[in-house]
Amino acid sequence: MTGEKILLADDEPQILEVLTEFLEGQGYVVQGAVDGLQAVAVLEKEEFTLALLDLKLPGRSGLELLSFIKARSPETEVILFTGNAELESAVQALRLGAYDYLLKSDLLLADLQAVINRAMERRRLTQTNRTLLENLSQAQAELAQRRTAELIQIRRIGETLAGPLTGRQIAQGMLNLIWESLSLSVLGLELRGNGEELPREAYRRQPEVTDATLGSFKSWLQEQVKGWPPSWLDADGQEEKIEETPLPSILRAPLQAGEVKGLVAAGREAPFTPEESELFRIFTLQGSAAFKNLMLYEKVRSLAIRDGLTGLYNYRYFWEVLHREVELARRYERHLSLLFLDIDDFKKVNDTLGHRVGDLVLKALGTFLREAVRHADLVCRYGGEEFVVLLSETGYDQALISAERLRDGVSQIMVEVPEEHLQFTISIGVAELKPGMDGDDLVKAADTSLYRAKQRGKNRVC
Ligand code: GH3
Ligand code: MG
Ligand code: MG
Repeated sequence: MTGEKILLADDEPQILEVLTEFLEGQGYVVQGAVDGLQAVAVLEKEEFTLALLDLKLPGRSGLELLSFIKARSPETEVILFTGNAELESAVQALRLGAYDYLLKSDLLLADLQAVINRAMERRRLTQTNRTLLENLSQAQAELAQRRTAELIQIRRIGETLAGPLTGRQIAQGMLNLIWESLSLSVLGLELRGNGEELPREAYRRQPEVTDATLGSFKSWLQEQVKGWPPSWLDADGQEEKIEETPLPSILRAPLQAGEVKGLVAAGREAPFTPEESELFRIFTLQGSAAFKNLMLYEKVRSLAIRDGLTGLYNYRYFWEVLHREVELARRYERHLSLLFLDIDDFKKVNDTLGHRVGDLVLKALGTFLREAVRHADLVCRYGGEEFVVLLSETGYDQALISAERLRDGVSQIMVEVPEEHLQFTISIGVAELKPGMDGDDLVKAADTSLYRAKQRGKNRVC
């Protein structure tokens, strides 16, 4: 029993009767019409799978009915009965979208059956086709939507993690990306390393997460960082199962950039999907890359502004800072003083003990100076065995005291060289920035004082 509906229109009652009986026997639901007008009335009320139409009908012709049907429901298949005299019209009917025609003069039920079956098959194929196309275009739309979402993610990664950033900005940017893209209860970062401006930790949590839960998540992550490199990360980057977790579901990833090592972890109740793990991995990889760039940048910068032997800032950097500090001191009427240091009789050290020992002395002096001055003061190696210390917010009297303290400290340094402890002294010229002076004047003034200190017998402050 197919239950499919067929419209049968023929003005000969006998044909109508026989065919109706035949078709109903096949399981179709048949609606008969004896003329064109009746057929139209029926067609206006319901839709049919198939229409069997006599070409020559009173009221409306078969061709007119065909057009009417195709306009209203294009998927209704139409088969026409035709006499020999109307063959031409039958051919035209095919052009208008009829499926086939049958000659009324020798109509065989078996032929009718075959044509109906074929028409039905075509209809099914058309419908399947349409469903497939609909599914396909829906899938394409979904795919396009996902692509767009992914592109937006990529763009946001670029915006957030590219460009010159501080360690704090990278850490916050990476956590923001993860926090906004995944629905998490807690998110945390632990970093170890001695780069400047690197945060040691950063955490996020949903308002409903308790202090206790966050606390156990934190200590778990801190414990994990202690055991660097992570034992759970094998060579392929594959993870072992996590044994004891502070939350039921955990994602974690290592961060490594030179000396900087760290871990990012995210946690929540519900399991993570493969896509979510992948996103997490992408964000943390990008974060790692940003940290690497930062380290490289700092390294290059430090090569450019530091002296290789002592690790102190170099001549170039000194002048950079000096101009800035002079400007600030003038604008805000702050004190600014400069110490110009020179090792006494350094040439002798080189000449008697060798250049290598001379270098050791320079290094020892660099280490001492770095530790001896305040954090805000700037120590630079100005040239060979000359050093400068820029003392911000320091007047002349205070600078003299600092200089004396440094001179005294240096005289007590013991440089360990083979078979002896070498001692050395320095002379220091002191100058304070006076109204009308610029950076050059300040350096010249300090240099002049140094010259005087040397003249007066060295190992002294002037
Ligand atoms: P004074 O007490 O008048 O300052 O005498 P001095 O011998 O210290 O001064 P002078 O300027 O005549 O000599 C400085 C020496 O410092 C000459 C140079 O060979 C040495 N020197 C400069 N740079 C370096 C360095 O990087 N390593 C070593 N070992 N020696 C250096
Ligand atoms: Mg010198
Ligand atoms: Mg010297």
